[in-house]
Amino acid sequence: MRKRIVAGNWKMNKNLEEGKKLTSEVINIVADELNDDVQVILGTPFIHLDSVSKLLKDSPKIGLSAQNCSEHESGAYTGETSAAMLTSIGAEYVILGHSERREYFGETNEQLAAKTDKAMEHGLTPIFCCGEALDIREAGTQKEYVCQQLTDSLFHLSADDIKKIVIAYEPIWAIGTGKTASAEQAQEMHADIRTHLAGKYGAEVAEEISILYGGSCKPSNAKEIFAGKDVDGGLIGGASLVARDFVDIAK
Ligand code: PGA
Repeated sequence: MRKRIVAGNWKMNKNLEEGKKLTSEVINIVADELNDDVQVILGTPFIHLDSVSKLLKDSPKIGLSAQNCSEHESGAYTGETSAAMLTSIGAEYVILGHSERREYFGETNEQLAAKTDKAMEHGLTPIFCCGEALDIREAGTQKEYVCQQLTDSLFHLSADDIKKIVIAYEPIWAIGTGKTASAEQAQEMHADIRTHLAGKYGAEVAEEISILYGGSCKPSNAKEIFAGKDVDGGLIGGASLVARDFVDIAK
């Protein structure tokens, strides 16, 4: 059985105190209301990782993720954070290749391949994001586009390593726009991604990889979207900033 995962992506939100408050609220609601078959993950800005990691010490049900890491090991890279640093602070996951990083910070498929390797070398699980912009969707070439992103950044991995990756399909036109992909559109792309993985690694490996949907997920639409047989949970932006909404999505 594939892991069901709901990961929050706080993006660049919350000061230190607000982050601690949100984390404590999530911990309490998860403890009271969520069963063990969903892996909840908090994806926080760097400055929160230490405090959130300490708060999560007694909550093994909830994992901790960063939102980026360097492709370099260490050294003269001002402003960067290494995978080894993230591991040392208690992070277990790292979101890589989010469309905002690709668009605003120029991250390329090749660079993301290097970041993936560096993260895995240090025992971090990448939550690897892929997804097409609106013009690609309108041209009907979204499947080719997304599969190429995966080929370029992940297909150098061994079968054992690709099995450890979490993939997040996030159509850019649905991120923060209030516009979600329909449950059918999400399932269709997730099935295409799984078929693409199976073409390279075989069906057995592809069946083990969790593929999350992201883009304007809310408590009111999560159930329908997550019902797709290849949709294994979600990467949640805006709604992860409100504990009640975030856990309701996970429920
Ligand atoms: P959203 O963001 O849920 O606010 O659309 C999702 C994401 O960018 O990960």
